[in-house]
Amino acid sequence: MQNTGRRVETLSNQYPDAERVGDHIVLDKSEWCPGKHPEPHLRDEHQVGYVESYYRCIRCGVEVMRTRDLPDECEGDKQ
Ligand SMILES: [Zn+2]
Repeated sequence: MQNTGRRVETLSNQYPDAERVGDHIVLDKSEWCPGKHPEPHLRDEHQVGYVESYYRCIRCGVEVMRTRDLPDECEGDKQ
């Protein structure tokens, strides 16, 4: 049996930039995506790539565009 509280603390120390959102511990990520942006108004004719930013929970691995899209519960400790 693991102590959940302790594990969260360890993760927070490991990832000082991580932010706690409910049960989740999210990192603000951005990734270079080759190709044109999926949103037409953010595209331009000669675009070869764009930077997509998203949030990733380091406990359950869920990835969302906005922190409010995170599921209510974090599945991180159930595996
Ligand atoms: Zn989570």
